[in-house]
Amino acid sequence: MCGIVAYVGPNQAYPILIKGLYRLEYRGYDSAGIAILDKDIKLYKTKGKVADLDNFVKDKDVTGTIGIAHTRWATHGEPNNANAHPHFSNSKKLAIIHNGIIENYSTLREELITRGYIFCSNTDTEVLVHLIEDIQIHENVNLMEAVQLALNQVIGAYAIVIISKDDPDLLIAARKGSPLVIGIGENETFVASDATPIVEYTRNVVYLDDEEIAIIRRNQELKIKTIKNIDKTPYIHKLEINLSALEKGGFDHFMLKEIYEQPRSIGDCMRGRLNVEKGIVSLGGILDYIEKIKNANRIIIIACGTSWHAGLVGEYLFEELARIPVEVEYASEFRYRNPVIYEDDVVIAISQSGETADTLAAIELAKSKGATIIGICNVVGSSIPRATHAGTYTHAGPEIGVASTKAFTAQVTILTLMALMLADKKGSISKSRFHQIINELEKIPSKVEETLKVNDEIIRIAKIFKDSRNFLYLGRGLNFPVALEGALKLKEISYIHAEGYPAAEMKHGPIALIDEKMPVVVIATNQGVYEKIISNIEEVKARKGIIIAIVTEGDKSVRNIADYVIEVPDTDELLAPLLATIPLQLLSYHIAVMRGCSIDQPRNLAKSVTVE
Ligand code: GLU
Repeated sequence: MCGIVAYVGPNQAYPILIKGLYRLEYRGYDSAGIAILDKDIKLYKTKGKVADLDNFVKDKDVTGTIGIAHTRWATHGEPNNANAHPHFSNSKKLAIIHNGIIENYSTLREELITRGYIFCSNTDTEVLVHLIEDIQIHENVNLMEAVQLALNQVIGAYAIVIISKDDPDLLIAARKGSPLVIGIGENETFVASDATPIVEYTRNVVYLDDEEIAIIRRNQELKIKTIKNIDKTPYIHKLEINLSALEKGGFDHFMLKEIYEQPRSIGDCMRGRLNVEKGIVSLGGILDYIEKIKNANRIIIIACGTSWHAGLVGEYLFEELARIPVEVEYASEFRYRNPVIYEDDVVIAISQSGETADTLAAIELAKSKGATIIGICNVVGSSIPRATHAGTYTHAGPEIGVASTKAFTAQVTILTLMALMLADKKGSISKSRFHQIINELEKIPSKVEETLKVNDEIIRIAKIFKDSRNFLYLGRGLNFPVALEGALKLKEISYIHAEGYPAAEMKHGPIALIDEKMPVVVIATNQGVYEKIISNIEEVKARKGIIIAIVTEGDKSVRNIADYVIEVPDTDELLAPLLATIPLQLLSYHIAVMRGCSIDQPRNLAKSVTVE
């Protein structure tokens, strides 16, 4: 979590840094700060959002052409002014910003305190800056060497940038487990957690790898060394982000914009991969590994949060179409038990940001046991695609709203394509069924467009239920993960307690919760278990629960018993999650707006979870 941005060049740093922080605010927003080096390091920080920082420095001196800035998502120490980054060394000659967690910070802190260092915050980060200063003084080394020596003592994850009063032309950046991108402009250099603060100045970027240190000089000299002092050659990538993707484009919130982008994002996800006329589904990124995946003993899907829900949809699809056994695991659980992993297992890691710390660690674990790792990520050049054997991008475009919407449907689209590709290669699907599904898949973007027309109906329902204290979401089969995802969306942005459940499991516990105040959202689109879900609706009604049903257009049976009905277009039952999810996204959005919640930056959350 947290956003880092740094600049050195001929221009005033402040406007670039603050704009960069606004772009990165989705990564953390409990406090923000900035340090600009002119003659001295001028450091300003405050609890609150980037706008609070911008306001706070209005009458302050922010002149200077080199600086660092940070928007925080607290891990150690509450969000207050003192814990906000940057942090000074005791001499105030060094200032640091950090993303990640220093796991051995308390031992280091104690040692530094006995050596006379005074701590001004409760963060884990502050030990780094004192440690670096201490090494610089006692080992008589330059700043880069001190950073190297310090990082060799550190356990944990970090992306850091440091400035030094003694060297006003130097930025030092380093990473392990948290992302950093270096932008190479004309006579100027940028460092950021992702490319969004950089893209309007340059498209040339270098992605720093784990345990690498970048030594960036004002004259544009960029050297990269590892913490073990091995020289590395910077490799320049070209950015392909569209600037308009980073603006709200007339919508009130990024989340709403991203919900409405789904016809396009699902279309982009399928482009060049699905050819209905020729009857081909082909994901180029995994072609070299297709035999391996096809012959896998089993597939293990690892993910967190919304991506985990996409993984559950994937489980149904892979098993149904490709007849390969699948297990879906929370990355955070998988990595800390002692999972049985075989060399002929294929692990599919799903992460929007490509930086999810637990997923990355789970990948490393599975890799060490010899499994083949396939990534499904949205952010190009992020850490997971670089840690996997092969993979595929979702191409949904930047997702800024913290509650994931278009990334989820893009992940489900990729998993559908992958399952179809494998089924076709394995011969586990008949030609006619294969054609039937891909024909329908091609129509999904226009059907999503059609589904978005339920917006007004959803606003009406949201008005009725905005003050509910609890919600239940029920679904069966492929619609069970949709129920989980619907409940998660509501929790995340409206702070209403919501539970997703497989509809038939309800009678093993949650049915006790149902009374006349409990709205129950049931995803009851046409599918094999349609009759069964009608029985589940009856069970809720018998206990006076209120049913909000998502049904296939033209449905009559559910309409007769549900209190509110939202129709989505008819499609193949395997593709239903792509449509049924849309009204649930809109429902959570409108309820949260009516409750006055912060839509794009919900409390306690941040977009990419780069800490475990
Ligand atoms: N662990 C650091 C802190 O709590 C950095 C957190 C972050 O990545 O924002 O200040």
